[in-house]
Amino acid sequence: MNLIQKKIYFSVFRFFKMAPILKLFFCPKKTGVRCLLLHRINLDDLAPLRRLLKKMDDSFGFISPADFFAYLRGDKMLVGSKLLLTFDDGFKSDRIVADQILKELGINAVFFVCPKIVEAADKVSPEFKRIVQNNVFNGIEPSLLTTKDYDFMNWEDLKALANDGHTIGSHTWTHQRLSSIKDVNELRAEVAASRIDLETKLNIKVNCFSYPFGNNQSINALAYEIMVKHYDYCFTGLRGVNTVSVRPHHLFRDKIEIEAGDEFNLNILEGMMDWYYWLKKRELNKISGDELSAGRNQG
Ligand SMILES: [Zn+2]
Repeated sequence: MNLIQKKIYFSVFRFFKMAPILKLFFCPKKTGVRCLLLHRINLDDLAPLRRLLKKMDDSFGFISPADFFAYLRGDKMLVGSKLLLTFDDGFKSDRIVADQILKELGINAVFFVCPKIVEAADKVSPEFKRIVQNNVFNGIEPSLLTTKDYDFMNWEDLKALANDGHTIGSHTWTHQRLSSIKDVNELRAEVAASRIDLETKLNIKVNCFSYPFGNNQSINALAYEIMVKHYDYCFTGLRGVNTVSVRPHHLFRDKIEIEAGDEFNLNILEGMMDWYYWLKKRELNKISGDELSAGRNQG
C-alpha cells in the first residue's frame, strides 16, 4: 500500500468515525474469524508488533489454525470476532517473531513458505538471488534489496516452528505469479509438488495454501482447479471476515501495516475496508467457478 492510498484510507476512517450510523451500516458485527497477514518484519518493529498483537488479543482473541479449520468445518462454535495470525514468504524474521513474541502471548500461527526458497536459504547462490528478486519482490531493481531481503528460514527453522505447534502451509514452489504460468506441468509443480516436498521434508501433513501476491490478478481458473484438488484450505489477500459460509478456498486475510499505527490496524479489523473488497470477492467467485464445491480429491 503506498502513501497516497494510506492517506485516502485514513480519511475514510475519520469519515466513518464522525458518522457512527454509517459504521453500523458498513461494518456490521459478525461472528467469524479475521486472518491477519504479515510478511518480513523489521527487527526495529518487534516492540510495536508485540504491543499491537497484545491489543488485538485483548480486543478479539486469537485462535489456533486447528480451531479455525474446525470452525470452518462446522465442528466448533465461535462467539464474536476472533483472529488467526498468518505469515507469507518464510522470512527468517518470522521465526524471531515466533520465538520472541508468539510464544509469550500463546499464539499459534500459519507460516506459508516456498520449498525451493527454504532449500536454498543457507547458501545464497546467484540462482537463489534471481528467484528472490524476480518472484518474491516482483522483478525489483536488485540494488534496492539488502541482505535482510535474502534472509529466509531453512528446514530447521520450520521444524522448530512445527514442534512449537505452529502450522506450515505451501506458498507455491518458487513464489511465481500463478496466473502468468502457461505450462500446466509447471503449474502443478508450483501448486502440488510444493505440498509433497513440505510434507516429506518436515514429516507433517500440509492442508493449506496461499498464492503469491494474493490478488485476483495472480490466480486463474486452471490454477484454482489444481489447488482445490490438493488442499483443504486456500488463503487469499482479499480483506474480510471469514464466516462459516465463506468458501474454504477463498479465505480472506487482512494485511497488517505495523508502520501505519495501532489505530489504523484496529480500524481495519473492525471491517472498515470490507466494503472496498465486495466487488473483488465477486470477481474471485467468477474466476474460481463452481467446481470448487467438489472439495479435495487427491490423485
Ligand atoms: Zn508471498
